[in-house]
Order: sequence, then C-alpha cells, then structure tokens
Amino acid sequence: MNKVTELIDKLALEHSLTVDEYKTLIELRTPETSEYLKQKAVEARQNVYGNKVFIRGLIEISNICKNDCFYCGIRKSNGLCDRYRISANEIVECCKEGYDLGFRTFVLQGGEDAHFSDDILCGIIRKIKTECSGCAVTLSLGERSKESYQRLFDAGADRYLLRHETATESHYQKLHPDNLSFANRMECLQNLKEIGYQVGCGFMVGSPFQTVDDLARDLKFIEDFSPDMCGIGPFIPHKDTPFADYPAGSAELTCFLLSVIRLIKPNILLPATTALGSINADGRENGIKSGANVIMPNLSPNTVRKKYMLYNNKLSDGDESAQNLINLKQKMLNIGYEIVTDRGDIIK
Ligand code: SAH
Repeated sequence: MNKVTELIDKLALEHSLTVDEYKTLIELRTPETSEYLKQKAVEARQNVYGNKVFIRGLIEISNICKNDCFYCGIRKSNGLCDRYRISANEIVECCKEGYDLGFRTFVLQGGEDAHFSDDILCGIIRKIKTECSGCAVTLSLGERSKESYQRLFDAGADRYLLRHETATESHYQKLHPDNLSFANRMECLQNLKEIGYQVGCGFMVGSPFQTVDDLARDLKFIEDFSPDMCGIGPFIPHKDTPFADYPAGSAELTCFLLSVIRLIKPNILLPATTALGSINADGRENGIKSGANVIMPNLSPNTVRKKYMLYNNKLSDGDESAQNLINLKQKMLNIGYEIVTDRGDIIK
C-alpha cells in the first residue's frame, strides 16, 4: 500500500492526522488516491446522513461593509460596487417564499453593515421564527461582540457561519488590512461556540500566498475546533480588488479537501459552495460526490443578486436560484441524492 492510502485509512479510522501527515496527504495525492479518498468520504457521510442533501436559503442582506479584506468584491474601498441593503420586511418575505418552496433553514449573510444593530436583527430573527415555524436561522454577518452574539442567540438564531479564512496568523495578515486580526477572528469563533450556536468555520482554497503548510494547519484547526459546519470554496479573484490578478483556486483541490474534512468529522455539515459551482459547471455535483451534504441556493430578492459580487462571475441564477429548486432536485437525483425539506441539524 502506498503512503497516501495508508494515511487515508488512518484518517478514516482515527479522524486525526498530524500537520505533517496532512501535508503529505495533500502533496502526494494522485487521481487514484483521490478517488480512494472520495469513496471513503462518501461512505462516512452515508453512514451518518444516508443520501440526504440539506438545503439552506441564502439571503444576502447587505453588501455594505466597513471592512477592507483584500480578496473581497464588497470591500469598503471598492468604489465600483453598487451598494444595497434589503429591509427587514423584505428579509422576512424572502424567508416566507423560501418556506413555501421547502426551505427550513435561512442563512442571513452580509457585509459588516452598522445598520444591522442588535435590536434590528433581533426583531428580524423573531419575526422569521414566528412566520416560518420549525425553521432554523443561520447568521453570517462577520465579527461582533460576545454580547451581541448572545443577544442574537437569545432572539432565536441557531447557527453562525464565520470562516476562519486561514489558521496561520501570518497568512491571515496577508489577506486582511492591519485593523483586522487573527486573534479577534479566533475569539469570535470561541465565543460563538461558548454561547451555544452551531458554529461553522472555513477557508478559501488557493487564496493568495497560501501554502500547503497553511492548508495542513487549516485541517488541523478543523480537527481541534470541531465545528458543526465548514464552508470551503476556491478563491476566485474579483477584478476591483487588490487580488484581481491572482489565480483562482482549483476545484480539484477543493473537492479533495472536502473529502478530507468529511473524514475528520463524519457528521459535519459540509456545503458544496457557490464558489465551487461558479468555477465549474458541475462543481456542486462534484462537491456532493466528494462528501459534501449541504447546498445553499440563493433566496435574495432578484434585484440585488448581481450586486452581492464577492468575486468575478459569482453564480446567482440557474441552479443557484432557490426558485429553480426543482432542477437542482433532479440533478441530485441523477447522481443518487435526495434533497430533503428539513432543518438539517447536525446529527450528534
Ligand atoms: N462578512 C461576513 C461574510 C463574508 S462573505 C464575514 O466576514 O464572515 C462569506 C465568505 O466569502 C468569506 O468568509 C470568504 O471566505 C468568501 N469570499 C470572499 N471573497 C471571496 C473571493 N474572492 N473568492 C472566494 N471566496 C470569497
């Protein structure tokens, strides 16, 4: 048996490798060993979730952001970004429309927009919870104080997505301006967990300056932090950012890492992300076939979809649209998976 298959077997059994072993796994992968890894990942997912795929209705509530992350198309210094914010009523209406389509989880994502105070968000969360009975609310609104996270949790928010972006501090500083710190990102993640949220972390594959060591540390971080969810997708350049000329990350490595993450934590909720679907026509299907079990179709009002442009050519129509769920369902059936109407909580 070769070294890589040995490591895959060890990971499938023990759900843990050393940073060096993760590095070897990534560096020495071949199409054959990746195929083997994928089979193991699918098996692990199958044992916990069967062939079910969970869906989340993604509502991009604002592209106004006070931060200046070098990779992101809605960074504050991008003067070419056409800014918007949707109203509390519109957000609740989107959820109601999604509810009728079969969505039982709504993800409110946005830039760090000061308009969305705790009071305003708490009101929105409560309204969604009463109008859409039995649904889960996920927030993805960046860094806030522990008190703020607590208030939103008390108002009924169930989950929080906050990608750690990279588990290497020096790499973090290369992706962000000085006023954003790795320490604060990590503290936010700890706070979210302490409060009792189902927490998601994650990172971009192929972000500028990323090394295999960085990726190995990302995997070790996921192992140690043991998040309930993990969002990974390829970095894709945005033409009006400082990283406009950096190459995009690969779908192949993203899928490989999805499989590794599935084996690290067999019950993790793992989306086949929009970024993966955006760089590759069958990206989402390949993500699911690699061990992902969540898809997050876009439920934002049509008028704003094109404005939440985190990167070039970000998908928002076709199968990406919540309104076209029927097509997505068929595509999943074609590869042996079933999209279900369910909150899709982590099975512990
Ligand atoms: N303000 C929120 C939401 C950010 S957008 C927060 O800070 O968490 C959600 C994710 O999109 C980011 O965490 C980042 O990992 C990803 N993203 C941003 N720009 C990207 C790009 N150019 N390519 C790929 N993914 C990107």
